[in-house]
Amino acid sequence: MSYSKVSCQRRRSIRMVAWCLVLALAGCTRRQAPVTRQWLCMGTVAVVSTPRGQEAHLPRVHAIVSETFAEIEQNLSIFRPDSTLSVINTAAGSGTSVPLGVHAAATLALAYDAAAAGHGAFDPTIGPLMTLWGFRGTPRTQPPDEAEVTAARARVDWQAIRLDTSSNGNGMPVASLERTDMALDLGGIAKGYAVDCAFDRLRAAGESDFLINLGGNIRGHGRPGPARAGWRIGVRDPFHHDGMLGTVTLADGEGVATSGNYERFVELAGIRYAHIIDPRSGHPVRGMAGVTVIAPTAVQADVLSTTLFVLGTEEGSRLLEHSSGCHALWVTDETPPRLLPSPGFATRFVPSP
Ligand code: ADP
Ligand code: MG
Repeated sequence: MSYSKVSCQRRRSIRMVAWCLVLALAGCTRRQAPVTRQWLCMGTVAVVSTPRGQEAHLPRVHAIVSETFAEIEQNLSIFRPDSTLSVINTAAGSGTSVPLGVHAAATLALAYDAAAAGHGAFDPTIGPLMTLWGFRGTPRTQPPDEAEVTAARARVDWQAIRLDTSSNGNGMPVASLERTDMALDLGGIAKGYAVDCAFDRLRAAGESDFLINLGGNIRGHGRPGPARAGWRIGVRDPFHHDGMLGTVTLADGEGVATSGNYERFVELAGIRYAHIIDPRSGHPVRGMAGVTVIAPTAVQADVLSTTLFVLGTEEGSRLLEHSSGCHALWVTDETPPRLLPSPGFATRFVPSP
């Protein structure tokens, strides 16, 4: 696979941006701009939009989406001790199988498949490494030493998830972790899953023109207005708070997600580390500023953006070739950054002038 390379000429300072702004609506005049509602959930900003002129739909769209997100957060958050995920983590290594509700069963199955497809570059048991590097629990000021990394890495193993989605005698799916001190962390998939779930409920409720954005995990249906081809999404410039690298227009029902190194990070001994960790080395990924993925669903875009951030362009492009309907843009963390779109992304991407 070959990549068209576009260099950004300006030196840009890295700035922290609100995650909700990583991908933003672009290209609307105020008269045409969709109407939106915004709130905080799942540790980020959620936004729903409907076309101007269809304002009457907005309260219902907001109610369905916000209820769905709250329900999923309740089940999957590692920050809630009573969530299904926390119960599985607490029971790790004990041999106890934890009964799963529909959301936990579906996300764990999707996460397991994503781990297998990416040969472990995506690993939902990344918890011990997230804690070691100070993204969870006690903050730290110095990077861990290699012996600590090796020890934590040994506790990260997606193949040690025991998942039975068929039965436990009652017909209820169950899951457990084989070893003590393992910990699930679904931060790389839960938001995309939640967007898809809300999308399906809106469609079932008869809504046809809307855009859902949960912290840069986006999926739309229909159009933002009568004279518009589809929802147009701005790909934010990771180096420039107000800048946009370009736009893509979503086909009906498509999802898009961005994984970046500039919103969630830790600074240890003066070096900034991204919140995406390569499970093979046990270290946060360096050298990549962001990866944006267009996919048939939001959850596919979410897992692929995290996976391709870890794999980089060479290994990542091989995975992408087997991911039907998925397209990616890698942005390197260098001066000037390089924009490396897959061929499919390049045909969809309209770079900013
Ligand atoms: P965001 O959560 O900011 O939208 P991502 O979708 O890229 O960004 O997910 C990053 C999150 O995924 C991390 O905060 C962590 O919870 C989890 N994570 C980090 N590294 C990995 C990995 N290699 N595989 C799976 N999940 C990961
Ligand atoms: Mg992701």
